[in-house]
Amino acid sequence: MYKGTIFFAIVIFALLFMCRFLTSLFSKKPNRMKNIVLFGPPGAGKGTQAEVLKNKYQLVHISTGDVFRYNIKNATQLGTLAKSFMDKGHLVPDEVTINMLEAEVEKNPDANGFIFDGFPRTATQAEALAELMKKKKTQINAMVALEVDDEILVGRLLERGKVSGRADDANEAVIRERIAEYYRKTDILKKYYQSQDKYYGVDGVGSIEDITARLSDVIDKL
Ligand code: AMP
Repeated sequence: MYKGTIFFAIVIFALLFMCRFLTSLFSKKPNRMKNIVLFGPPGAGKGTQAEVLKNKYQLVHISTGDVFRYNIKNATQLGTLAKSFMDKGHLVPDEVTINMLEAEVEKNPDANGFIFDGFPRTATQAEALAELMKKKKTQINAMVALEVDDEILVGRLLERGKVSGRADDANEAVIRERIAEYYRKTDILKKYYQSQDKYYGVDGVGSIEDITARLSDVIDKL
């Protein structure tokens, strides 16, 4: 009788354990994903921070600017098209950018989550991203925005232009146009994510480590 009770308890325990395991296997993964939109004007340090955060949280980093530059370097059709906009500091058209972003996401079906760097930049792109996440049974958890004063940004980008060889970093007028375009076109995004309680502003001035710590404070709570 006593042995029977113990056996019964063990069977119940094993069943509960199996249920928990199967549930986590089949349903938890999409919810565990952390999808972060890293936001900030050109020169705010998004690229540097994305690289650190990608390793820290095992996320896939997609920088639309980097993908465009890769295509320009390899003289693809997409690269030639993007270059004509980028050289003037203008945004590449939404349809082109959204298709490219979707293709990059689809290349990583097993990702723990994504850091979107430089995307979305328009309301249409934000809607397309929300749809794409929904299709993947996940969502954007946060837009984390690095906040840096304009004059600091111009100084940083001119310095970067001396070593990066990027045409859009060499000319102060183009830099100012990119910063102005960023605020003109992205204010609506701040409001979009604020309305969903997903917007987090982070001070982007300081050492790389300090800024990473501030960003991590936000990400750890997601
Ligand atoms: P970035 O490296 O993020 O500063 O991007 C460099 C340039 O690439 C921008 O000035 C745009 O011309 C283009 N670009 C990057 N991301 C996007 C986007 N999400 N939508 C449209 N154009 C973009």
